[in-house]
Amino acid sequence: MDPQHKASAEPQASGPIGRLLNPVRGRLLVAALLAAVGAMLTLVPLAAIAQIARLALGAGGIAAQPLWQLVALSLASLFVGMLLISAGELLAHLADNRITHHLRLALVRRLSRVPLGWFSERASGEVKQALQDDINTLHNLTAHFYTTVGRAGGAILISLLYLFWVDWRLAIIALLPFPGFFLFFARAMRASGANMQAFAAKMAGIDSAVAEFVNGIAVVKSFGTSGRAHSRYREAVDEFAEAFIGFTRPLVASMANANALIAPVAVLGVVLLAGSLFVAQGWIAAADLLPFVLVTPGLCGPLLLLHYITHDLNHASGAAQRVQALLETPVLAPAPAGLERVPQGCEIRFEGVGYAYDAERQVLADISFNLEPGTTTAIVGRSGAGKSTLARLLLRFFDPSQGRITLGGVDLRQLDSASLYRHIGFVLQDVRLIHATVRDNIALGRPSASQQQIEEAARTANIHQRILDLPRGYDSVVGEDGQFSGGEQQQLSIARAVLLDPPVLVLDEATAAADADREVAIQDALSRFAQGRTLLVIAHRLDTVMQAERIIVIDNGRIAEQGRHAELLAQRGLYARLWNQGGYAHTTEQAVPAC
Ligand code: ATP
Repeated sequence: MDPQHKASAEPQASGPIGRLLNPVRGRLLVAALLAAVGAMLTLVPLAAIAQIARLALGAGGIAAQPLWQLVALSLASLFVGMLLISAGELLAHLADNRITHHLRLALVRRLSRVPLGWFSERASGEVKQALQDDINTLHNLTAHFYTTVGRAGGAILISLLYLFWVDWRLAIIALLPFPGFFLFFARAMRASGANMQAFAAKMAGIDSAVAEFVNGIAVVKSFGTSGRAHSRYREAVDEFAEAFIGFTRPLVASMANANALIAPVAVLGVVLLAGSLFVAQGWIAAADLLPFVLVTPGLCGPLLLLHYITHDLNHASGAAQRVQALLETPVLAPAPAGLERVPQGCEIRFEGVGYAYDAERQVLADISFNLEPGTTTAIVGRSGAGKSTLARLLLRFFDPSQGRITLGGVDLRQLDSASLYRHIGFVLQDVRLIHATVRDNIALGRPSASQQQIEEAARTANIHQRILDLPRGYDSVVGEDGQFSGGEQQQLSIARAVLLDPPVLVLDEATAAADADREVAIQDALSRFAQGRTLLVIAHRLDTVMQAERIIVIDNGRIAEQGRHAELLAQRGLYARLWNQGGYAHTTEQAVPAC
């Protein structure tokens, strides 16, 4: 018995499940009804057998005609019942197909409108969980739950009606074990309820110990602390085992009693004992005992089925909640209908921009500057100053909390994202390659590009030769035919940007993942690509941006200084300090290619 039993006993069909299944609710109810009527009809043969026995045991025996009529009725009921159950199952599966298809599309439509900044690692996990696992869980609910409830409910209902019709007094006695089952079951739940939280917490403890162990395995091994990590896992397992015993021990006796009460043999025993008494007292004829013998033990199956299927409802409720939450993920405010505007030129202006990831801390405040077309602007500052956040705002990963950013005089909020990314390309530190050919990876933003254009882009990014060295050249599949180093991935990402040919380019730590040789190749690629474009470079190494037309120094989310390299050094302010700390004192302007 698991701890979810208690939660599952509570009604949960409303709320997220109800909202998600709304479009197919009618079909599911019809499917449940068909299954219920079908299940009722499949039980007609039992009543027919009892009737045949009753006639056969009667004074005159049974004539051929009523016998065949009852047999025909039984077969017809069985056949129609099976047909109705199948129709119900088919309808439920069609409804399931419709709703899962609808949900998958709705989720993807929603996710295409959420800010790019939302897609953190945590969010990727949520998306995977919702799109795969949770939708599969909902499949169990839509395709099976309603028809199962219909079948079990129908069988129980018709059995009760039949037994009460035959003899209500014996029916009440024959059914006594069932309330007994629920009494023991409730007691078992109460007994284990106290330990349920500890049980769930220890189970979560194992999960996190496993995740910690697997995710940190490289660090753990390299620092020689694998023994400690192992022991954390062992401790979690031991604690879980203890909690498990604490949880199950009070359950065992009560559940054993509950199950014994409704075991078919126990139910049959009650029926025979009480029935014999009834017959002996002359309250019913011996033949009237047969319906009880045939039908009452059969109640256990559907009853247990109803009980166990509440598990599915419980799981589905969690899944529906997660899917619903994802469907309600806040999206970027769309451009007001009919107000989308076309940028006039490519000048970018930050006007009093501020941003806070959360209510507690303002990460950027009062940022105002222009990116003149064709110029290079570098953003520098200490770690955590807000440089990457500034770049992400320009790429509309988020919208500013205060102020606005304009492109060609148009607020980014009034641009559709396709137009934004046609104007502004980016090469970020965190490059994502997809599981596809190298060609598809480069042509991601422009699938119609010709092979020649793709190769040209790869040449500009200094990665053409490396691609030709792969077993299948541009047809090589990333991850199967070859692995790319961090620096090479940056170069593929540059080739992507080159192919889109945007007039504005944002580079954030574009060489961060590269070794010294590759860094030179990347810088070389970027400086060729950057010719004539507007560049915003987020630089962690000051020597890479000495030649920028403008260097903006961010400190604690605000612009502290701005100017050219020499001017800033002369000011002897923060930039000069960072320069000295970086040990670039002997670097000359000619030594490093500019972005
Ligand atoms: P670095 O040079 O180390 O990359 P940075 O100057 O680029 O730093 P940002 O990455 O912009 O700085 O981060 C600025 C501040 O915002 C930091 O305090 C950081 O912790 C916080 N921050 C960054 N990303 C998030 C996020 N997704 N959610 C919450 N806070 C964030």
